[in-house]
Amino acid sequence: MERIDILSLTYEELLEEIILMGEPKFRAKQIFSWLHEKKVTEFGQMTTLSLPLRKRLEEKFCINALKITKRLASSIDDTVKYLYQLPDGNYVETVWMEYHHGVSVCVSTQVGCRMGCQFCASTIAGFVRNLTAGEILLQIYEAERDMGRRIDSIVLMGIGEPLDNYDNVISFMRILSDPNGRGMSLRHVTLSTCGLVPKIYRLTEDVSGVTLSVSLHSPSDERRSEIMPVNRSYKIAELLEACRSYIKTTGRRVTFEYAVIEGINSAVQDAKALAALLRGMQCHVNLIPVNPIAERSFRGRRKTAELFQKTLEELGINATVRRTLGSDIQAACGQLRRNAHEEETRR
Ligand code: SAH
Repeated sequence: MERIDILSLTYEELLEEIILMGEPKFRAKQIFSWLHEKKVTEFGQMTTLSLPLRKRLEEKFCINALKITKRLASSIDDTVKYLYQLPDGNYVETVWMEYHHGVSVCVSTQVGCRMGCQFCASTIAGFVRNLTAGEILLQIYEAERDMGRRIDSIVLMGIGEPLDNYDNVISFMRILSDPNGRGMSLRHVTLSTCGLVPKIYRLTEDVSGVTLSVSLHSPSDERRSEIMPVNRSYKIAELLEACRSYIKTTGRRVTFEYAVIEGINSAVQDAKALAALLRGMQCHVNLIPVNPIAERSFRGRRKTAELFQKTLEELGINATVRRTLGSDIQAACGQLRRNAHEEETRR
C-alpha cells in the first residue's frame, strides 16, 4: 500500500488518521508540531512518541523531501535562488529574498503552467502537474534549513497559477496558519493570480487574511487578451469587480502587477487608461520592467516604468517600480527549470 504524504495533511485530516489508528487525539497535535514547527525529516526524530508508535507511523505515512539541485546566490544582494528536484524527478524554483523588513520567499505552486501568458517563461513548455500542499511547504522548509533562518513572509509568485491548483493551495495555507503548527498569519502570505475570477470569490470564503495580488498588465481587453489568454474567459471589468468585492469583504487593499513591456503596454495613454480603471479603488500598482526571456523579443526599460509610475501618481494612483533583486541569477521565474529540463532532454 502506498504511504500517505503526511506533510500534505491539514491538522483536521491528520487527526482523522490518528483516530483511525486508535491513538488519542493529542498525538495528532504532537505530530503536527513535530512536522511543521520543528520540521523533522524522519519519524525517528519524534522523541515524545513511543518507539512502536513511530514505527507504525513510518509504515502508514511518509515525510517527503526536496533535493536542492542548484543553489544560485546573487553577488549583488542577498537573493538566493533554488532549483529543487521533487520526489518524482520534476523541478521547481524558489527564491529567497532579504528585505529590510525581513525575509520573503517566492514559491511555485505547479510544475509548468497552462495559463499561456506571452511574456512568462514558466508557461512556454506547458503544464505538467499540480504541486501537493507538502511540496509547496517543503520549498520553504528546505530553504529555511539551508539558510539556518526562518522566513517572515511568502509570495505565491513562482511557477504556476495558484488558483488553478486551488485545493492544494488552500490546504497549504491552512497547514501554514494552523495554531497546532507554525501558526503563521496569512497576512504575511501574498497570492498572485492572472485572474481566475470565480476562484477569487471563493478565496474569501475558504481562508481569511491572505493578501491578493492580481496580474493585470494592460488596461485594454483587446491587448490583455493577446498577451494573457485568460482574459478571453474573464474580462477586465469582471476581474476588477471581483477585486472590489475582495476589498469590501476583507478590508485589505489589492495589489496590481504590471510588467511594463516596450511598445505593448508602456504608453502614457495606457497609464491614463489604467488610472481611470482603478480610480477610487483601495489598491496599489506594482510596476516591473518586463524581464526578457529567451523565447520572446519583449523588452522592458526602467525609465519607461518610472514614467508610467509618474503618470499614475499624478492621477492619484499609488504605484511603485519594483526593485529588482537577484538580477544576476536569472531571477525571472521559470528560467532555471526550463534550462534544467532542456539539459536533461539533450542528454
Ligand atoms: N500565475 C500567477 C503567479 C505567477 S507569476 C500570476 O500570473 O500572477 C508572478 C508574476 O510575475 C505575475 O505578475 C506575472 O505576470 C509576472 N511575470 C511573469 N513573467 C514575467 C516577466 N518575464 N517579466 C516580468 N514579470 C513577469
